[in-house]
Amino acid sequence: MHTSQRSRPPRYIPAGLYLTLLQPHMLSFSRWVALATAPFVFPVTAAVAQTPVQSAPISGIRYEVTFDARTAPARTIHVGMTFDVGGPGPVLLSLPAWTPGAYEISNFARWVSAFSATSGGRSLTWDKLDYDTWRIRADGAKNVTVSFDYLADSLDNAIAWARGNFAFFNGTNIFLYPEGRPMDFTATVTVKTDPTWLVTTGMKPAGTPRTYTAASYHDLVDMPFFVGQYDVDSAQIANKTVRMASWPKGSLQGANRATFWDNQKKMIPAMGAVFNDIPWDNYTTFIVFDSTSGGGSALEHQSSHLGIYTPLLVESILFPSITAHEMIHAWNVKRLRPADMVPYRYSQPQPTTWLWVSEGITDYWSDVVLSRSGVIDTTGFVILTQGKIEETNATPPVALEDASLSTWIHPTDGTGYIYYQKGSLAGFLLDILIRDASDNKKGLDDVFRDLYQTTYKQKWTGFTGEQWWSAVRRAAGGKSFDDFNAKYVDGREPFPYASVLPLAGFRLKVDTIREPRLGVSSAPDSSGVRVADVQPGSPAEAAGLKPGDYLLQVGDISVRDPSFGEQFRSRYAKAEGTKLPVKIRRGEQTLDLQIAVKLAERMEQRLMLDPNASAKAVRIRNGILKG
Ligand SMILES: [Zn+2]
Repeated sequence: MHTSQRSRPPRYIPAGLYLTLLQPHMLSFSRWVALATAPFVFPVTAAVAQTPVQSAPISGIRYEVTFDARTAPARTIHVGMTFDVGGPGPVLLSLPAWTPGAYEISNFARWVSAFSATSGGRSLTWDKLDYDTWRIRADGAKNVTVSFDYLADSLDNAIAWARGNFAFFNGTNIFLYPEGRPMDFTATVTVKTDPTWLVTTGMKPAGTPRTYTAASYHDLVDMPFFVGQYDVDSAQIANKTVRMASWPKGSLQGANRATFWDNQKKMIPAMGAVFNDIPWDNYTTFIVFDSTSGGGSALEHQSSHLGIYTPLLVESILFPSITAHEMIHAWNVKRLRPADMVPYRYSQPQPTTWLWVSEGITDYWSDVVLSRSGVIDTTGFVILTQGKIEETNATPPVALEDASLSTWIHPTDGTGYIYYQKGSLAGFLLDILIRDASDNKKGLDDVFRDLYQTTYKQKWTGFTGEQWWSAVRRAAGGKSFDDFNAKYVDGREPFPYASVLPLAGFRLKVDTIREPRLGVSSAPDSSGVRVADVQPGSPAEAAGLKPGDYLLQVGDISVRDPSFGEQFRSRYAKAEGTKLPVKIRRGEQTLDLQIAVKLAERMEQRLMLDPNASAKAVRIRNGILKG
């Protein structure tokens, strides 16, 4: 059996709650990301070819994807591509290097084997032009068929993964495009599978069974597929069809499935109201539950998202929170997008300084929409926002623009994904400042509605920095945000919570608290709770704990207990110097260590409602939370 060793940090986890769910006491999420990511950084290199290359023109492109009970045991998806050749010269076919939304180079050609090219049963000569590009000598052939096997063994929502009765894949993984030619070609996809297995995708049905069509390559590769045995159902919400497909069968049933649909019915109208549009004909939430997932991770598309979750997550607020985040991307980033990323380029990295808007403010909208639709209450909003403040405080100061730009290289200092939390907080502050300047008549909603109309609906140019800040300024009645941009977006200054939050009836209470520490950071993985780091000079180091050990039990609390952190902090809050028995696993051995408890001081900033809020501040708070 092939097992992917490849690991990537979740696309999105609201850290505060993630920590509450799994290992609150030790783990800094961003640190975990850094540690988890470090060994998997790929060299970021553009295509090898020095001169612009162009394929012979091709047309009539049809893809055929086979996944059935015969190919599933080898976790193989068989891919065919047939087309007509419209001119001389070699046909150059490339696979993308990345999937939009997953900002890293993956080179999907890595998973290709048994490549062949034929015409009328005759083999054609081919070689590689670069590592993502096949060069086929058509030799006068008018109609060509290319085929290959794709190893679907990556449990990663940007790639492809298969089990005995199921596969998901992204179009970027398997659909070749002609190099150097326009990407607006139409194509069809036919899926061949067992008669009783299902096929689900956002692509438009093409008339014949299990055949779909896309109007351009960009659409084609933005519509992932489920094939096999899984649960799928649908509902009409805001006059559109909304579907949910979940694997394995039976994993999301009964009250949990009902809650999902209940939340969808509340959330979608609230999202539509932010942008004043429902942009899809139909929308699909694809869900994979797998216990090797350390948390939750999902990837957005124009009319769907694909999430991979630990089964533990189902009843957590994280589940609707991630769902809302990914669905808001259907507006923010799949349609309203920084000009740097219009159109997507699949062969090379496409860095932008605007992920703090595309990801961070998407996350702000997620909290706001959950609140406005009643999925969470004000306390829920405060908890989510508080978590983002804590994560940002625990990360080295970094400019939002720089963090956005650098994500492609997965920085190891913990700043690699902080544009989610810190960008969300920047959105919160901007929303407050706009509402304060306009007496709550305008808000960040207006900025997004404005840019959505002008830089997506009227003409899809994407927004520039000038357009973004002018829209912010307009909404705030002409107020300048140059200083905000210089200090908090392009700069590294701490956010001005003390002056801005009270304008919306919030305040940040700063406390110094003493709490027990062992001096380790840990992260859950598929084998348990793994020690990622042992602080030099800590009691844990003195007791002989090492990175790579697995924690089993601390005192009489199992590390698997979801409330481990709270129990540990309350039970040992006054236990300075007490030796605690700690059970660990090292390789095949189970060891018992004695670790002394040490109390450490920590500055805690707590977000709370301001009891002395003015009438205007309360109006602004309600404007944000209630719409
Ligand atoms: Zn996102």
